[in-house]
Amino acid sequence: MSLFLMPNWVVAKLISLQRSFLWGGVELKRKIPWVKWEYVCTSKRKGGLGVADLRRKNWALLGKWWYRLGDGVVGLWKQVVWEKYYGGRKEVDITAVDTVQVSRIWRDVISIGLRSSSLKKMLVNGFKWEVGDGSRVRFWREVWIGEKPLRELCPRLFELAVKKDGLVSEMGVWEEGGWRWNLDWRRGRLGREQDEELGFWESINRAQIKAGTDDCWHWVHGTDGKYVVKNAYDLLASTDLILSDHFCKLIWCKLVPDKVSFFGWRLCLDRLPTKWNLQKRGVVLEGGLGCGLCNEGIEDGNHVFCTCPEVWLIWVRVLAWWGMASVLPNIVGGVAEFFLFGLGRVIGKELASCIFLVTSWYVWFWRNCRVFKGNMIRRDDLVEMIQAKTFFWIKNYLQGCVFSLVDWKINPVEAAAAIRKNNTMLKEYRRNTNCRKD
Ligand SMILES: [Zn+2]
Repeated sequence: MSLFLMPNWVVAKLISLQRSFLWGGVELKRKIPWVKWEYVCTSKRKGGLGVADLRRKNWALLGKWWYRLGDGVVGLWKQVVWEKYYGGRKEVDITAVDTVQVSRIWRDVISIGLRSSSLKKMLVNGFKWEVGDGSRVRFWREVWIGEKPLRELCPRLFELAVKKDGLVSEMGVWEEGGWRWNLDWRRGRLGREQDEELGFWESINRAQIKAGTDDCWHWVHGTDGKYVVKNAYDLLASTDLILSDHFCKLIWCKLVPDKVSFFGWRLCLDRLPTKWNLQKRGVVLEGGLGCGLCNEGIEDGNHVFCTCPEVWLIWVRVLAWWGMASVLPNIVGGVAEFFLFGLGRVIGKELASCIFLVTSWYVWFWRNCRVFKGNMIRRDDLVEMIQAKTFFWIKNYLQGCVFSLVDWKINPVEAAAAIRKNNTMLKEYRRNTNCRKD
């Protein structure tokens, strides 16, 4: 993957396997892919699932060869590539070569720049020359001072220049240990050319030409000029935000297992198999779209998690457990926000996210028991399950936190204070030992 460009059919096959694994399908029996693959591959920070996009990963890995070619480190393979394919001419745009003549491996590396203009732009514009002796950098045409090539910064002077393709090292001479610029012009500068000249000299006089030092490439998107695959991978990602930042933090709450976060992600995207959603995807339902809990409304996401009178009473009980009474919003996102910013203000957002996710998880469990097994768990028993499960999951994450299940049920706000204190200590400990649970 880091040396060859993956053929399209290989990428398609691997993605198909990944999709089947995620949605539980097998070759002969396909399951509904509830969320489009582009969203699945979007980072968790933007509301996706953060699954690696193999094609992007492949491109980002191949991009490293672009950087390695010009990183200033001496290597026999680089000399061979420069001499054989570029006639010793060293360019940032390595696609400027006859692809028929090059080897399969090098063609794969180049091909990511030929594939799309945005990819090429990211790579070509991502590299900037750090000038040493100036023997590799074309004075007018490449980015080595400022953010653009000099021919774009000073177009009038470029027109007057004699050596339009000259190297930086050819535009001056060493005199008494110092560098002196010596440019050839077709004629003297006039009017607006003279205005342009002021900034021009100021810019090039800032550059430090160093004899005996190689010019090398600098990756402008990295922190220390070095190419980082993850960094390039993120740049290649779509920038669309799927879910807002506070929903992302709620979903990936560390106090619950990944299966609950995954459920919460589908809940926030409205991609759970409610009767409404199944019908939208062409599934024929024998019993119609009616809610199996109240036998009144249509079973869509907002009904089954918020407005169903049976479910609404569960939320009321859970809030009463925390000493709160409130009129809840009638959409899932609204309830989630109520927990984050209402209950979260009292007990902290992480704990409030945990309560919201586990309650939703059990509401869905309750609905499934009713729809598929026909049995109705008592509401009191369900609230007890929510209390017990949150207790065990939190205890499991925050080992060493002293509070009992009885404390948790009877006096949750005090227990929450102990949890927050322990959580702060745990975070501090993990930061110090550089050991994070992700
Ligand atoms: Zn209902």
